[in-house]
Amino acid sequence: MPFLLLKYLPAAAAAGAFAAVGGAGYLLAQQQQHQPLWLRGGPQPEGDDIELLERPPPRGTQLERLRGGTRERPFDVLVVGGGATGAGCALDAVTRGLRTALIEREDFSSGTSSKSTKLVHGGVRYLEKAVFQLDIRQLRLVYEALHERSTMLALAPHLATPLPILTPCYKWWEVPYYWAGLKAYDLVAGRRNLVLSRYVAPAEALDMLPTLAARQQEGGGGLKGAILYYDGQFDDARYNVGLACTAAAAGGVVANYVECKSLIKNPDGKVVGAVVQDRLGSEPPFEVHARVVLNTTGAFVDRLRHMSQGPDTQDIIQPSAGAHVTLPAYYAGGARSGIIIPKTKDGRVVFMLPFLHGVIAGTTDARCPLTPHPTASPQEVEFILGALRDYLDIQVRPADVLSTWSGIRPLAADPRAKDTQNTVRDHVIVEEPDGMITVSGGKWTTYRLMAQEAVDAAVATGRMPVNVRGCRTERVPLLGAGAEYRHTLAAQLAQDFGPQAQQQQEVAAAAQVTRGSAAASPASPPARNVVIDGTTAQHLAQAYGSRAGRVLQTAEDHHLGGQLVAGHPYLEAEVVYCVRHEYCQTPADFLARRTRLAFLDARAALRALPRVVELMGAECRWDAATRAAMSASARDYLATYLPPTPAAAAAKQEAGEVAHAG
Ligand SMILES: Cc1cc2nc3c(=O)[nH]c(=O)nc-3n(C[C@H](O)[C@H](O)[C@H](O)COP(=O)(O)OP(=O)(O)OC[C@H]3O[C@@H](n4cnc5c(N)ncnc54)[C@H](O)[C@@H]3O)c2cc1C
Repeated sequence: MPFLLLKYLPAAAAAGAFAAVGGAGYLLAQQQQHQPLWLRGGPQPEGDDIELLERPPPRGTQLERLRGGTRERPFDVLVVGGGATGAGCALDAVTRGLRTALIEREDFSSGTSSKSTKLVHGGVRYLEKAVFQLDIRQLRLVYEALHERSTMLALAPHLATPLPILTPCYKWWEVPYYWAGLKAYDLVAGRRNLVLSRYVAPAEALDMLPTLAARQQEGGGGLKGAILYYDGQFDDARYNVGLACTAAAAGGVVANYVECKSLIKNPDGKVVGAVVQDRLGSEPPFEVHARVVLNTTGAFVDRLRHMSQGPDTQDIIQPSAGAHVTLPAYYAGGARSGIIIPKTKDGRVVFMLPFLHGVIAGTTDARCPLTPHPTASPQEVEFILGALRDYLDIQVRPADVLSTWSGIRPLAADPRAKDTQNTVRDHVIVEEPDGMITVSGGKWTTYRLMAQEAVDAAVATGRMPVNVRGCRTERVPLLGAGAEYRHTLAAQLAQDFGPQAQQQQEVAAAAQVTRGSAAASPASPPARNVVIDGTTAQHLAQAYGSRAGRVLQTAEDHHLGGQLVAGHPYLEAEVVYCVRHEYCQTPADFLARRTRLAFLDARAALRALPRVVELMGAECRWDAATRAAMSASARDYLATYLPPTPAAAAAKQEAGEVAHAG
């Protein structure tokens, strides 16, 4: 017995520490502002609704308006970089009544923001650090992120939902240890908690995730149960595109494929705009003037800082890459629960999560060179698969990998940190000596808060018009959410467009023929040429929210209700809809960020490519040369998602060696 006490003492001590910190966090949470009533289903405060255009203006119109940012009539804010941070800043600024422009050199979310683990979370790992390092800054980060978690879920309930995650325990001491930790997580979330965490017995854990190992291969321990907790999960790229489109609908100028080439300074050396280039057009670069320029270029913020302050300016970013793999849905045994592997052999955290109609797993964390299109290395893929092997009862085979991808964390440098895992993932908002405001670091979950602070900083420069309103983004749902969204939408679509609806039409038509009347009676359902199954209804509701009906209308109008590629629920009509209403400019935009096919199944994305080019070509009136060029560049891009084969890795290494020797 004394031996047992000694054995479990560290766990008991940790449990006590977690509970103490959790209690402190809870008290902190109680003192803070609580969730606005309307986020919990109550009415929006009167007079605070923001007028949104029915449709975001087309890109051509946006470019014209961008040119209107002249020296005489500058924008209030020019945001450079259209990831989560930049799109969040644009929405914040425009809803405060500021004249706002956002430019993105590629597509919205083409950088890190489409390559996250897709968790809307406070970060259980950071809470552990807060406890063991007694670091109040880490605790504050967790608290802030948990606060933002519930806001993010409420602002786009079609794109972000709670996800059950199991923490499997194969040693008895892990049960109280992780239980205490996740209870502390609940407590820090306070009233904004999603669902209380709890212990689940082995049988229930296996029900929730049938592929979970009942006995761990290495070490040989049997499953002692799991701690079930909830975080949010979201479609990162669609959320990002949604932010940009909502900013446009609120009156902002947003333009993808427009690059900041250099910065404009006034005689006092202050940044007053940028020279920008439309990368899809043939016009020369042009000037866009603004009272304040926000640098939200993610891992590339130092490039903009160098443009203005010279190449010797101290960098603030230390890039670190994280890779993921996508596996078939059967890796989760058809379940909608994920697992967290809290400590891999080298002490990292790996998640395996259901995502849309696949399963994703990752991530890694390693210093990397700065590149716009990082790729997952064979070593990273093997590391992730190796971590899963210890926790799953099925063979984890490299041949099952459907897609791989890598993103660069824009970590704000901490010169004291020995490795990036120990860098505090806080954000940095600095007004540079030249007046530009740089916003970097943080995480997806805190994009709204970062944007609020960044626009506050822009207002604090004194260069804005007088009487700027306060931040309103806690009350601005994304397009497709808002009052008209219902959580029963998928069922509604399945009823209206499913095979039964078609049968009803046929019955009604037959009855009319019997009655001898060719005209439809007012009570008969409208004739439809589009029939969808439940999976497609679910996909459309999740991706487009209350705008899903418009996608189906496009399918009806253009006879584009067919499936784009076998095995995936995407409709041909989505291509046309996304070109018209979501600033989709290239086939890669569609395959990677309007839909997530490249992430879910890279080979299927390549198979879908010819039809996507055909549909976009017709919609955008591309000539043969443009179609060929679009097709080739999309093929090259999609190839970066293909799982690395040993042959490809060897070729890459050889190419690197040749380049090095050269
Ligand atoms: C592997 C990984 C997993 C993660 N998982 C999570 C998670 O689960 N949850 C979470 O909350 N956070 C997560 N994060 C963090 C989160 O993804 C990032 O913090 C966030 O996406 C950063 O957004 P950003 O807008 O600052 O950068 P980016 O998304 O990279 O956007 C910057 C944009 O600037 C553009 N740009 C660059 N230069 C120019 C120029 N000259 N002109 C115009 N545009 C330019 C780029 O093209 C790019 O689109 C993860 C990060 C990584 C790397």
